Amino acid sequence: MKPVPTPNADTKPFWDACNEDRLIVQTCNSCGHKQFYPRALCVKCEGRDLDWQDAAPTGTVHTFTIAHRAPTPAFKEDAPYVLALIDLDDGFRMMMNIVNTPHDAIAIGMPVRITFEERDGQKLPQAEGLTS
Ligand SMILES: [Zn+2]
Repeated sequence: MKPVPTPNADTKPFWDACNEDRLIVQTCNSCGHKQFYPRALCVKCEGRDLDWQDAAPTGTVHTFTIAHRAPTPAFKEDAPYVLALIDLDDGFRMMMNIVNTPHDAIAIGMPVRITFEERDGQKLPQAEGLTS
């Protein structure tokens, strides 16, 4: 079975939103910085007044790699699969898979939209390439 995140006090709102097919981002009320992953402090100003904002479920490919060999048996059926850093349009970066997209169509700068993959009761954000 593929691994499933274990939410903690800092990350639970994020994972709960994913289960509602919503992308949210932790945002600092003091300086406006948006950060992923969620933390107890703002990494820019060290403020503790953090909140959550809805994030647009769109972005672009910052970089990617195609994994031909699964790291564990759980991912064997997925190989070859795409692991990518996605720059979300709301100004933060996340690592996720690019799914439902022909591998030879994927390129740096390609626009993507966020979809959600369910694993054992928890949904995870994944990217899907938008071809023009
Ligand atoms: Zn801040």
